[in-house]
Amino acid sequence: MKATLTVLGSGTSMGVPTIGCDCAVCNSPDPHDRRTRPSIMVQWDGRTVLIDTTPDFREQAIREGIRKIDGILYTHGHADHILGLDDVRPLSFPRVTGGGKIPLYASENTAHVLRNVFRYIFEADYKYGGLAQVELRPINGPVELFGATFQPLVVMHGDVPIESYRFGSAAYLTDFSSVPEDSLLQLEGLDILFLDALRHHPHPTHSTVENSLKIVERLKPKRTYFTHISHDLPHEATNAALPENVRLSHDGLKLEFEL
Ligand SMILES: [Zn+2]
Ligand SMILES: [Zn+2]
Repeated sequence: MKATLTVLGSGTSMGVPTIGCDCAVCNSPDPHDRRTRPSIMVQWDGRTVLIDTTPDFREQAIREGIRKIDGILYTHGHADHILGLDDVRPLSFPRVTGGGKIPLYASENTAHVLRNVFRYIFEADYKYGGLAQVELRPINGPVELFGATFQPLVVMHGDVPIESYRFGSAAYLTDFSSVPEDSLLQLEGLDILFLDALRHHPHPTHSTVENSLKIVERLKPKRTYFTHISHDLPHEATNAALPENVRLSHDGLKLEFEL
């Protein structure tokens, strides 16, 4: 079925511009160089599913006019991927959902972090009302949501295994330094591939432009978009040097694909 993927945020953990930085990209007048923290939204058949809730979720949701969330899938528990969870509140109340809680799909490790960071949401003795109406659900294999399948695939974030997801002809791999062979084998025949590409020079827990281009050569997806981009990569100049079917993503980018 037809689906739309929207890039809610394309930036690295500190965002671009980075607080206190005077570099050319942080001062760039090009709106593509303004990157909020990394997350995407997938929509089909009246459904909206998010991957991660960043500290910029409120701004992203207002920008994209999000009116409803049917589920959230988490990649891992780092601050830049979870801290916006509290801001789903207005979309979690019964007048929007019709009752029922927004399901949060998370690995055991990620659920542990969510329960600790957002203890007041998950512990029932908070008595002031207005809590996000959400519930954690474990990931044990493919996540079936409203006729679509989100297949979790392990990627290595430094030495920590975290989740990436394949859904139909698209896949979203953020925050990895390497992709295990088992996961690569499940990423054949893609239309759209999102890959972490922090910058050019190596980083212990993130992929670089050069490393991600090697993955593109191996997997040969039709279209590749880089994400989790730091202020080292100016949008225009970086794109000009990339192969034609590989682009830096940018906040607000919308892509149609087959789910
Ligand atoms: Zn991150
Ligand atoms: Zn991370």
